[in-house]
Amino acid sequence: MESDRDGGCRGEFTCEFCSLSASYTYYGQKPPNTRAIVLLEECFVMRDPFSPDKEKFLVLGSSCSLCRKMVCVGPDCSLFYTKRFCLKCVREHLEEFPQQIQMEVAKKKQTHKTHLSH
Ligand SMILES: [Zn+2]
Ligand SMILES: [Zn+2]
Repeated sequence: MESDRDGGCRGEFTCEFCSLSASYTYYGQKPPNTRAIVLLEECFVMRDPFSPDKEKFLVLGSSCSLCRKMVCVGPDCSLFYTKRFCLKCVREHLEEFPQQIQMEVAKKKQTHKTHLSH
């Protein structure tokens, strides 16, 4: 029925962690109207509203490969390591990630606490 024509809103993307929300125009690995772009994962994508260029698009987020929650691509919400993981799942399975990822996540934890310091 609905083909992959541009412009049509497919639904609403809402990040389960930071509540970022936007309507996405495409979900999948190859956004329409892009010539050679194939994304590494299935993503929620919207056409870039700030660009007149039809081929420009924004990746809003994806779903966590473990808990399937919608997460945005923000560094405080998710991480891409061969697949998309939300930070909650990353923390739960931290030992299974390489040390480099573990260090990155450790850094993120610190930046979250800045509001509490006095
Ligand atoms: Zn988020
Ligand atoms: Zn998750």
